[in-house]
Amino acid sequence: MSKKLFIKTWGCQMNVYDSARMADVLAPLGYTPSDEADGADMVILNTCHIREKAAEKVFSELGRLRHLKDEKARAGDKMVLAVAGCVAQAEGEEIVARAPFVDIVFGPQTYHTLPEMVAKAHRAAGAVLNTDFPAESKFDHLPEDSGGQGVSAFLAVQEGCDKFCTFCVVPYTRGAEFSRPAFQVLAEAKRMVANGTREINLLGQNVNAYHGEAADGSTWSLARLIRELADIDGLARIRYTTSHPRDLADDLIRAHAEVPQLMPYLHLPVQAGSDRILAAMNRKHTADHYRAIVDKLRAANPDLALSGDFIVGFPGESDADFAETLRLVNDVTYAQAYSFKYSPRPGTPASTEAKQVPEDVKSERLAALQQLIDAQQVAFNAGFVGRTVPVLFDRPGKRPGQLMGRSPHMQSVYVQAPERLVGTIADVRIEAAHANSLAGTVETGVYVSRTGHSAEVSA
Ligand code: SAM
Ligand code: SF4
Repeated sequence: MSKKLFIKTWGCQMNVYDSARMADVLAPLGYTPSDEADGADMVILNTCHIREKAAEKVFSELGRLRHLKDEKARAGDKMVLAVAGCVAQAEGEEIVARAPFVDIVFGPQTYHTLPEMVAKAHRAAGAVLNTDFPAESKFDHLPEDSGGQGVSAFLAVQEGCDKFCTFCVVPYTRGAEFSRPAFQVLAEAKRMVANGTREINLLGQNVNAYHGEAADGSTWSLARLIRELADIDGLARIRYTTSHPRDLADDLIRAHAEVPQLMPYLHLPVQAGSDRILAAMNRKHTADHYRAIVDKLRAANPDLALSGDFIVGFPGESDADFAETLRLVNDVTYAQAYSFKYSPRPGTPASTEAKQVPEDVKSERLAALQQLIDAQQVAFNAGFVGRTVPVLFDRPGKRPGQLMGRSPHMQSVYVQAPERLVGTIADVRIEAAHANSLAGTVETGVYVSRTGHSAEVSA
């Protein structure tokens, strides 16, 4: 009998990928995904520990779920309640102590053992806790058959981090840097394309540090992997995220000039513009080093658009340091970027620094930075009005007859068009630009995407 599985995901794209794979692992046990927790037979909270706010949300959500679990118990049924991801990894014991009604707590590296954990949770009282870093990679044990991941899908190629930026929990929650073998990645990509995926976004906490073993025993860089993926018939678009400036090698920059399937959009976090703060963050590069990489990338592909991550109010950040961040943003010009107030994370070196920046100063700096980034984003999008861009349609829009897709530069584009265009790339004339999306009209004609997938649109 089919059982309902509800997974709530917070945080990064890696968590989104992990949640999809958890559903794959549980499918043979009869669990089918549901979009509500009410009445579910199993609920998984896949959590994020990167900032304090993200972690806090888990405990408030658990309070709500406890009532649903009790209701189900009164009806004589069991709701298996699990907490996964980086909060589970970092605070597993605390979750068990604070929320004893939770059945399973597991970290990002052990979800391939979910069937055993679920069986144990049904057999015994008390929580099953599994936050090991097993010697064997979970990727060797995940099912090959996936529920089909859609037109645009994530593919994890690298995980963990050895860089130890002084603000960041990732090296502690995700563990040491690890690259999946290239032959395994290629095989998974081919299966995804056979199941209808047209765009693959290669994922890793430091994806450009990728160095995976090829079938002949040699080691492939990310650039080499991208070139081989580009040979897969039917794969129209390739992206990768998240990159570290220190690992942006020349062969990867060349790939941006030479591989047409590699989209002209790159998320390249810098965090801050002051060399003093970059050093305190242990980023091991300067602001000018970052500027030089951006120049090289734009020389390789003048059409390349950039996105980034910024932290304001890192311990010891002065007004002059923050001014350097604004200067860097003005120099680089982003299509889009994320910015955060520094959040002290337990166990990280920066969290015990004496010179913490007051909350109101952080808020002021965040507002100023976001204003600048927003203005750059609006200007970037406005530059597309009147242009024709190829859009990969990946889903129906919210309104009747509407389709949503992505431009090469990651902008959301919506049009009125027939649903059969989902999975194809069509030329769209952009008529309006908004802060977070573009609107346009599909140009009439027959669209044959690189995939050979074709569709006709008539006026
Ligand atoms: N590996 C990527 C890199 O090197 O830039 C970033 C990974 S992290 C999951 C995503 C973003 O969260 C970071 O780029 C950083 O801007 C932000 N972040 C991480 N720790 C943070 C903290 N303690 N406070 C505020 N923002 C944080
Ligand atoms: Fe965190 Fe730094 Fe590693 Fe990125 S490179 S995951 S910010 S420690």
